[in-house]
Amino acid sequence: MKALIDGFLKFQKEAFPQRTDLFKHLATTQHPGTLFITCSDSRVVPELLTQQEPGELFVIRNAGNIVPSYSPHPGGVSATVEYAVAVLGVTDIVICGHSDCGAMTAVAQCKCMDHLPAVSGWLQHTESAKVINESRTHANDAAKVSSMVRENVIAQLANIQTHPSVRLAQEKGLLNLYGWVYDIETGSVEALDANSRSFKPLAEYPNTCAVYSKAVEAA
Ligand code: ZN
Repeated sequence: MKALIDGFLKFQKEAFPQRTDLFKHLATTQHPGTLFITCSDSRVVPELLTQQEPGELFVIRNAGNIVPSYSPHPGGVSATVEYAVAVLGVTDIVICGHSDCGAMTAVAQCKCMDHLPAVSGWLQHTESAKVINESRTHANDAAKVSSMVRENVIAQLANIQTHPSVRLAQEKGLLNLYGWVYDIETGSVEALDANSRSFKPLAEYPNTCAVYSKAVEAA
């Protein structure tokens, strides 16, 4: 805990004074352009990875970067998606998986999770990705996990499009969806391409988008 308090004191002394105008502006308003949905994993830091300042990313994090499909009993993720899209009017949503994901490893390797009933229940939202991943052959366990990470991003992109706020924004041509996989060791990102349905290096294909809204596609 001492490291956190020391960090806060450093923030007050160094980072905050460099941004006094920004924080004064942000004191009463926020206009983030992007909803960034990723795993709770400590090694994935959205603002560092995308070099964004406070006020620029609206973030949802949970085990496995999961977005439950819309249901009559929406939970915290659904409420946060709805607020980001319908109230804040974000124009982009990124769903970002990552290498060495503990949640996806557990799913891919069918680990017994009887001692983790909450995790076990939560990861059922990956079921459509799991059955596809299980239907394929993989070179080894690592390849199977890597594939599961990608299939899960695809599945969560499908899930988020069951949310009324998301569908309405797409219908109006106001929202694009992106599927990323971040590699912790190399710092690289692969992005899901709408046309080829494959993941491409974002550095080489910076315009890669998973789901274009109607207006953008027509443009
Ligand atoms: Zn993870």
